[in-house]
Amino acid sequence: MDGVSWHLACVRCGENYPGLELRYRCDCSGTLDVIQDLSKCELTREILDSRMASKNPLDRSGVWRFRELILPLGDEELEKIAAARGEGTTNLYDASTIGTEVGVENLWLKHEGENPTGSFKDRGMTVGITVAKLLGMSAVACASTGNTSASMASYAAISSMDGLIFIPEGKIAFGKLSQALAYGAKTIQIEGDFDDAMALVQEICDSEGIYLLNSINPFRIEGQKAIGYEIMQDLDWQVPDWIVLPGGNLGNNTAVAKGLLELLEIGVIDRLPRIAVVQAAGANPLYTAWSKGTDIQSVKAETIATAIKIGNPVSWRKSMRGITALDGVVTEVTDNQIMDAKALVDSVGIGAEPASCATVAGIKRLVAEGVIGPDEKVVGMLTGNLLKDPDIVVNYHMSELEGIESHRANAPISASANIDDIRRIIRQ
Ligand SMILES: *Cc1c(COP(=O)(O)O)cnc(C)c1O
Ligand SMILES: [Zn+2]
Repeated sequence: MDGVSWHLACVRCGENYPGLELRYRCDCSGTLDVIQDLSKCELTREILDSRMASKNPLDRSGVWRFRELILPLGDEELEKIAAARGEGTTNLYDASTIGTEVGVENLWLKHEGENPTGSFKDRGMTVGITVAKLLGMSAVACASTGNTSASMASYAAISSMDGLIFIPEGKIAFGKLSQALAYGAKTIQIEGDFDDAMALVQEICDSEGIYLLNSINPFRIEGQKAIGYEIMQDLDWQVPDWIVLPGGNLGNNTAVAKGLLELLEIGVIDRLPRIAVVQAAGANPLYTAWSKGTDIQSVKAETIATAIKIGNPVSWRKSMRGITALDGVVTEVTDNQIMDAKALVDSVGIGAEPASCATVAGIKRLVAEGVIGPDEKVVGMLTGNLLKDPDIVVNYHMSELEGIESHRANAPISASANIDDIRRIIRQ
C-alpha cells in the first residue's frame, strides 16, 4: 500500500511516518496527525452535490461522500474495503424556537445522534475499522465507558472482526453498555479507573496484535472531519458564523477544525466559521488552560454528562491548534445548565443525550456574554442520541437528580382509572 497520498506526522516534534504504518505514537511519544496531500485534490461543490443523488453506498455515507479528503485510496479500492453503512447524513434542524430562548435569530442543530449507533463516533469508527482492514488486522480494541465502545462493537461485528472493550468500574450509561454487549464485543470490566483501563488496553494491543481504536488513533479524526463538511453542504456552502460543540477528549473539535481548514485549502468554502468548545464545569481542563494560556493540567472529572467526563484529554495540543486557527473560544457550563438545556432540546422533539446539550447551554452563555452576536448564524452540534441515557431523563423529570433543580420537569401524573378524574387533569 505504498504511494498513498497522506502521511503521519508527530504533533510534538514533527517527525514523519508512512501513511499506513501500524503505530499510534511518534518515537518521542507525541501523538500523530494524518497529513493529507491536497495538491491534486479536485473535489468541488458540484461533485459533492451530485453524490447526494447517487445510490453508491460510498456516496450515501456522510463520511465516504468526502472520501478524497478522508482516506483517498481511489473508488475501486474503497468500494471493496470501506466499512460504509450510511453513517452521517444526519439532519440539520432549523432550531429557531430554541434560538429564541437562547438569544440568537439563526440557530441550527446538527443531530449526530442520528448515526447508526447513535453518536458521531460512527464517523471516526468507519474510517478506523477500514484502516484496520487495510493493515490486515482481525481484532480491534478500545477503552471506553460509552459511545466509542458502542460504535466499535457494532462496526467490528459488521466487518467480521473481534471487538475487545475495556471498561473501568463505576457508572456507565446503560444504553451504551447494552450496545457493547449486544453487538458481541468481549467486554472486560477492570477494577480500576479509566486511566488504568487505557494503560492496559495499549499494552494488550501491542502484545496481542490487536488494532487500537481509542481516541489516540488519528484515523478516527479523519472520519469526524466530515461533520463539518456536511454542515457546510447542508447550508448549501454558505459558511455559518459559529460552530458550537461539546469537548471531552477534544477529538471532535480537533477534527472539525482540521477538516474545515482543508476544505478551505481546496477552495470548496471561501471562509472559515469560528468555533466554540463547551466543557462541563466539573471536567474543564481545556477551559482552564485556555483561559490562563497554559498547558493542560489534568483534573478529577465530575459531571452528569458522562460523555465529556474526561479530566485528562489526550488530544489537547491538536485541539488548541484548531481552536486558534478558527479564532475560537472555550467556555464551561454547569450540570444544571446542561440538564435544563437538555430539557429544552428534548421538549421541541429533537432530543439528545446530556453531553450534547452542553452545546445549547454554551451558546446561551456566549450570547449573554456578547461573544456570539444575536444576529450571527450559529450551528450547534448534538453529539449523541436521547436514548443513550434514559435513566437521567426520567430522573430529571421526576425531580430526582441529586444536585439538579429540574426547571423544566414534565413528571408523569398519577390518576385513578376514573374518567372524571382524568378529564379534570387534562383540562387543567
Ligand atoms: C465522545 C462524545 C463527546 C466528546 O467528544 P470528544 O471528541 O471526546 O471531545 C461528546 N458527546 C458525546 C455524545 C460523545 O459520545
Ligand atoms: Zn515526535
